[in-house]
Amino acid sequence: MVSEVDALYAETRAETGLSSMSPAVRAALGKVERHRLVPAAQAALAYRNHPLPIGSGQTISQPYIVALSTDLLQPQPQHVVLDVGTGSGYQAAVLAEIVKQVYSIEIVETLGKTAAARLTELGYRNIEVKIGDGYRGWPEKAPFDGIVVTAAAPRVLPALVEQLKPGGRMVIPVGGGDIQYLKLVIKRADGGYDERNVLPVRFVPLVPGK
Ligand code: SAH
Repeated sequence: MVSEVDALYAETRAETGLSSMSPAVRAALGKVERHRLVPAAQAALAYRNHPLPIGSGQTISQPYIVALSTDLLQPQPQHVVLDVGTGSGYQAAVLAEIVKQVYSIEIVETLGKTAAARLTELGYRNIEVKIGDGYRGWPEKAPFDGIVVTAAAPRVLPALVEQLKPGGRMVIPVGGGDIQYLKLVIKRADGGYDERNVLPVRFVPLVPGK
């Protein structure tokens, strides 16, 4: 799996500006037991660079996208990060290998509960999962050093920008239907933000909350 991810980094270096995985992300990818976060029927396929179904019509992203999103955040050991769209918990686990604390929001209760139980079984004590609407972020735990959104949003979500620290980074797929870009958003000291399109991607859409 890691060699496939390496090959994709090399192929996309012109767009992403990243020619290889950072050592921290490489180590995290090697450590997280992806086969224990996917349904048993998918376990045999867990280490291919593919998205996989995880139930409730949702998918766990391909490892390359998880690695790239994590690298774009430039995660540091003291960081507190928000993960929107817990899904299987894989992205949260990769982040938790690197940063101090991960807060993760999932809107589908069964997915969130299953992921939380598996992450606990795997020994993660620095991931807190809540069932809720990611559009709103998690204001009680803000501000965050980084935010990763793993379902496509119609636009850069203002509530999430609000919850970033100045200098904080957010990776968010933006766009409807077939045209989506993985965007990197960097919050400025004046409260505004700069953004760039990193890569065309295809995520499931973020479900609008109630
Ligand atoms: N990061 C996940 C994959 C996410 S797939 C992993 O590593 O496995 C996208 C997830 O976002 C799905 O689980 C979906 O239920 C969830 N989701 C969709 N809309 C949401 C919303 N408004 N708030 C929180 N989670 C949402």
